[in-house]
Amino acid sequence: MNTNLLDFDLEGLTAYCEQLGEKRFRATQLFRWIHQRGASDFDQMTDLAKSLREKLKGRAHVTALPVVSEHVSTDGTVKWLFDVGDGNAVETVFIPEDDRGTLCVSSQAGCAVGCRFCSTGHQGFSRNLTTGEILAQLWFAEHALRKRLGKDERIISNVVMMGMGEPLQNYSALVPALRVMLDDHAYGMSRRRVTVSTSGVVPMVDRLSQDCAVALAVSLHAPNDPLRDNLVPLNKKYPIAELLDSCVRYLEFAPRDFLTFEYCMLDGVNDQPEHARQLIELVRARGNGKNWCKFNLIPFNPFPASGLLRSPSARVTEFAAILSNAGIVTTVRKTRGDDIDAACGQLAGDVKDRTRAAERMAKQRIIPLKQVS
Ligand code: SAH
Ligand code: SF4
Repeated sequence: MNTNLLDFDLEGLTAYCEQLGEKRFRATQLFRWIHQRGASDFDQMTDLAKSLREKLKGRAHVTALPVVSEHVSTDGTVKWLFDVGDGNAVETVFIPEDDRGTLCVSSQAGCAVGCRFCSTGHQGFSRNLTTGEILAQLWFAEHALRKRLGKDERIISNVVMMGMGEPLQNYSALVPALRVMLDDHAYGMSRRRVTVSTSGVVPMVDRLSQDCAVALAVSLHAPNDPLRDNLVPLNKKYPIAELLDSCVRYLEFAPRDFLTFEYCMLDGVNDQPEHARQLIELVRARGNGKNWCKFNLIPFNPFPASGLLRSPSARVTEFAAILSNAGIVTTVRKTRGDDIDAACGQLAGDVKDRTRAAERMAKQRIIPLKQVS
């Protein structure tokens, strides 16, 4: 029995230490060594009693995931591929900016939602990551970057759960990982700086508002159900009206008074002025006239199997203008790390298609615009 201590939030580690007959504050010390100092060797943890260190050595370890590869982009973006066993791998991306450092973290190997514009979706679902595997990405990246940059202060200020996988379909592993990100004895991030991105698992949006209300980004991508059913198949289970209602409920608990909708701009599919107008109607029908959401338009990052193209930038600008003129704050996402395939939706990890999801999708057709607008 050998426990990876990265699997625990502070409450879990406290219970673990109590089982070993140790006082609660020992867990806090241990937790700080691991997450704040990046220590994995119990002998390094000099203020822990020798007897505790010995007990831990026989029973526990602090182990990150094996690194398969690391790529550094000309713009400073770093992408790691981590081995999660059984031929699966997940990706993690660090995006440096002037005023922050953002880590894009994966929650699953593959994804079961199967969005047709997403290369992770084309890969099918392999398995959920454990809490320790989610946190190992942050633990490793933070301490590897500190070492590399010769810094002793925090490098990663923000986490976005926008890597591979649907975080709200791995809820029980996600929540303890989020708690460690927020914990002052670990990474001490503010709730505004930790973002869960979801394709819309409605019941879990409600649960997250109660269990750990971090910032929420919702991947909308379409203004009506027929089109969204086609792009984000989970929409058949949780249609747009239900999803948007859950977003409004979430707002009451959210760290800011708005949430973000992500909208991937697909040439000739969801990028027409009519679609923008439909979005405005959806937004206006809720929130009692308040500005309750903003839109982040994502230029589609193409990959051959998708059969889709990026909207021309003039069309993105026009779409953004229609939303902005209606009073909806709208931004267009800069893509980063293009030269290392680190941009949104390009995270493929292990390219093996175990479940033949890609094959199935290639057979489907995008429904023509006239049927959906
Ligand atoms: N499963 C979650 C989080 C991971 S995807 C979700 O869907 O929200 C993170 C973001 O990247 C989502 O908004 C997703 O729609 C977007 N995305 C996926 N594939 C993309 C692509 N090829 N180009 C641009 N954005 C993409
Ligand atoms: Fe899964 Fe998100 Fe990709 Fe959709 S966009 S397949 S939910 S990772």
